[in-house]
Parts: sequence; C-alpha cells; structure tokens
Amino acid sequence: MSTITLAVSPAQLQEMQAAYQKVLNPKTPPYALFAAKNQGTTITAYRSGKVVFQGNHAQAEAQKWDKAAVPKTAQAKANAKSRSLPANFAQLAVLGSDEVGNGSYFGPLVVCSAYVAPEQFALLKEYGVKDSKLLTDPQIREIAAMLKVTIPYKKLILTPKKYNEIQPTYNAVRMKVALHNQAIFLLLQDLAPTEPDAILIDQFTPKANYQKYVAQEKNQVTAPIYFETKGEQYHLAVAAASILARASFLDELERLSKVCGFTLPSGAGVKSDQIAAKILRHGGEPALTEVAKLHFANTEKAKKIAFR
Ligand code: MN
Repeated sequence: MSTITLAVSPAQLQEMQAAYQKVLNPKTPPYALFAAKNQGTTITAYRSGKVVFQGNHAQAEAQKWDKAAVPKTAQAKANAKSRSLPANFAQLAVLGSDEVGNGSYFGPLVVCSAYVAPEQFALLKEYGVKDSKLLTDPQIREIAAMLKVTIPYKKLILTPKKYNEIQPTYNAVRMKVALHNQAIFLLLQDLAPTEPDAILIDQFTPKANYQKYVAQEKNQVTAPIYFETKGEQYHLAVAAASILARASFLDELERLSKVCGFTLPSGAGVKSDQIAAKILRHGGEPALTEVAKLHFANTEKAKKIAFR
C-alpha cells in the first residue's frame, strides 16, 4: 500500500470532484472537501488543493491526474523530516554566523561569524553564553568583552548611511547574504590552516535563496554551509556570534546617538517614529540618513509627525 499526495488547482479540484461523483464516500473526513474510493484506492481531497491517494493502486490513480506522480519512499520522507545536521553537531568545531539590527529602524546591520572548538565549550558556558534573547544588554556586553579575547571571530558593520546607499540595489536579504558570506570568508582565512568541521548560519532565508544571492558575490565561500532557524540551539558558535553581533549593535547605537544628539531606541516602534521626527526637524533627511534605515515605514510616519 502506498500514499501519494498531489497539490492541484481549484479548477482541477472541481474536475476531480465531478469525476469521483459516483464513488464518493458517504462520510467526508474532518477538513476534507470530499472523499472517494475508486477500485480500492481511497482519494481524500482538501479545500487547500491537497489530494491524498491511498491504496495498492494509488500511483496509477494519481497518475490519471498528474503523470509525474510517484510515492515518496520511506527514506525520502525520513530525510525530509530529520534535521539536516549531523547527530553529533553540538560536539564539533563549528564556525557559526548570525546577524543583528535587521529589524531595528535605528542603527546598523551587524553580521558576526565566530569559531568555537570543543576545547572552549566549558569556558563559554562559564561565561554564560546562550541564546542572546535570554540575556540583558549589560550581560551581552560583558560576555562579548570576554568572547573577544577568547575566540576567533569576524564582525562586519553596515552603517545606516552605507545601508541606505546600497538598499535600492541590495534588498535586505541580499545584504545579509553578502555580509554573512564575507564574514565567513574572512574568518576562514584567519583560521587557515585550521578548518572548521562545519559552518552553520542562523537561517534567515531558504537555502536556495542564499545560494542565488551568494552566486553574485566576489569571494564566495565554497565549503558546505548548514542553515537552521534558532541556530544558537544547535551550537555555541552561533550563540557566541549572536552575542558579539548584538554587543556591537548596541555600541553603534550608542555612538550614533551621540552623533545625532538623541538617544536612539532599538526596534521599529512608535518611539522610533517620534525620535526620527525630532531628528528631521533638527537636521532634515541628511541627519536621518546617518542613523536610520530609511526604507522602513517609520520614515514616512516620522515625516508626518515632524511636519504636521
Ligand atoms: Mn539570527
């Protein structure tokens, strides 16, 4: 017995419902549009366009609708479900990479790559390295100061001014791809001849998207890269990279606050609109472009507040 799932258009779904009209099951399962049984194959169709064929002749039945339909083998299913990371990943010497500032109106975009080998695990845990979202800003700064003298890392800061310059041609995802690629490339150079067992990026875009953008970069990292959301859960290297990036972001936000004369908040909320409005009234857009990511909706809101 095999199972095949097809994704069909609304039109094809209607066509199927009509075709199976004579063999419909009297009972429709929860959430299904209809269910039918044709020559031993059970067909269950959902409003989303998902249609499931089950039974010994599932493939033949499904191929009436899609000639390319084939059952997923048990192995393929297992692969799709299981994590892409090796089982012993947390024990490897890993180059981890993460970014900070992408969602904040004020301040730079910071990407940091850090290398953590097993002999440093105990020390990093002692420092308190963990998910940076669980740490306060003072804790982050303190841990970052210790990390800077403990592990190899490479940090890249894209200032708001530079960000605004390239934003028309580099969308936010492409910018991040370019920065991660460059940080990893430079750190690998620093580490040579040592090579990390693996490279892990805290995932911010599908792998295919990353590869599409990285293909346009000059110094492409050729070593394989793993991508996982919540990457800091899988290795201390990502957690360390995240802390270093966050500390640097905070430093920059402080520096830019001095530059413009206003305390710049992190994030992209109402507070940001209000401060941006003050900056606009004092120094206009030339002042704002030094400290904020202008393409955020906050800019228009700030203009309304400033010049109403
Ligand atoms: Mn991240």
